[in-house]
Order: sequence, then structure tokens, then C-alpha cells
Amino acid sequence: MLLGLLGSCASPLHTSTAPPLPRCELPIATLLTSTHGATLERWDLPETDVWFGEALPSSASYAAYRNTLHAMGADVIHPVADPPIVTTAEARAQWHREDANLELVYSGRVGTIRPIHCLEAALFAYHHERADQLTQPSEMIVFVLRKDRRLRVYAGRGDSMYPPKSVYGVTEVTADHAAGWQLVANLHNHTIRSFAGKPALGVTVPSTNDVKFLRGLVDELGLPTILVTNGVFTIDVPAASLATLQAAD
Ligand SMILES: [Zn+2]
Repeated sequence: MLLGLLGSCASPLHTSTAPPLPRCELPIATLLTSTHGATLERWDLPETDVWFGEALPSSASYAAYRNTLHAMGADVIHPVADPPIVTTAEARAQWHREDANLELVYSGRVGTIRPIHCLEAALFAYHHERADQLTQPSEMIVFVLRKDRRLRVYAGRGDSMYPPKSVYGVTEVTADHAAGWQLVANLHNHTIRSFAGKPALGVTVPSTNDVKFLRGLVDELGLPTILVTNGVFTIDVPAASLATLQAAD
């Protein structure tokens, strides 16, 4: 929507010397590693407001993803999915902690769930174009860093549900941090689930495993923000709130 409004500014009142308005489109990625179907890619971007606004990328497959979920009434801010099948006391204890985190988020005590922002949507669309999230659900992991009005983005993804740690980008991010880059956020997606035979959006709540992993990045690299998206909504969690959420052992 915002993109449409910006586009309408291309009126005769604009002089021909005006710089082009930034679009919500990623340039071509730099491939850093590619092993057994898993990739780590990097983008270097000018830091502009468009990345943090609600403009969406012009990806036909991403639009189809959103349209499909909308048509099914599944694009809701608090999605509901079929309950997990729990057969052990250990699994029951874990899901109790996952439910506690969900309650902290859905009650508004931790984080803010909002419509997805441009950079998150562009990265989700990039992932979805390579693995249709309605038929091949999977997660990507992203780091965003900032230095001198530039953004650096790392995105790791694989050909199964979870990317291998070899493409998390932690080694690269740690080296950049030592070279003066500041972390902006860690982003990953929670992909499609199912509810009564229909697709349901992923839950925008950090899992207990997420909390355990991300607390380490907060302590070691000063990670300030955790983002979890389902392609339509994103939760924005300040690092300080990780102390409130439950973590895996
Ligand atoms: Zn997660």
C-alpha cells in the first residue's frame, strides 16, 4: 500500500533530477557458501527508511502466498493450529514452556506483533520463491547489521525444515562485529502449520530453543532485537525481554 502511495508521487511536479524513490526490492545476493542444498547469502544495502516501512516487494509468488491465506481466512494476528501430539512427560514439559511464552506474547507483556516490514517481507519472499512455504514449509535465518548508513544482511536456508548451523552466519557476523558493525536484528520465520486440514500461519512467538540461542547472541554480540515472522505478521522483541521468556535447557 505504501509502495502505491510512493509510486503516485511520480507526477509532473517532480523534476527530472529528483533521485528515484527506493523500492522494496533486494539486489542480487552474494552467495557465500552452498553445501548439500544449504546456502548462506549476503546483501549489502544502503540504509533507507523503505526497509523498515510497510512497503511490500513486488513478488508474484509472495502475493499469491498472502492471497491464498487471506482467501482461507488464515491471515490472522493470533493464528491457531492443531495441537501437537505429545506422548512423553518430557515433551509435555517442553510444550508447557512453549505455551507459557505464547501467553506472555499474546497477552501483550512481551514484544509487539505488527504487519511485516519491507526488508522482512523481501527476505521471506526470496525464501518462498525458492521453497514454496505452502507446500515445502521451512525456516530461514537472517542477521541484519549496520555501519556508516549501510546495512549488511546474511540469510541462511536449506532444503529441509531447519537450516543447518553451517549457514547461520554466526562466524561472519562475529567477524563483522569485531570490525565495527552493529547488530540490528536477528530474524527467522515460523512457517506454515495446519488447522483442521487447512493452512495456518506460523506462530510469531520465539520458541524455547530460539530463546536459548538468541540469549547467547545478546550476551556476546549485543544483539538488540529479535524478529520472528510468518510472512504476514512479525513480532519485534527487544533483547531485554528474552529474560522474561522461557528457554530450553
Ligand atoms: Zn523459532
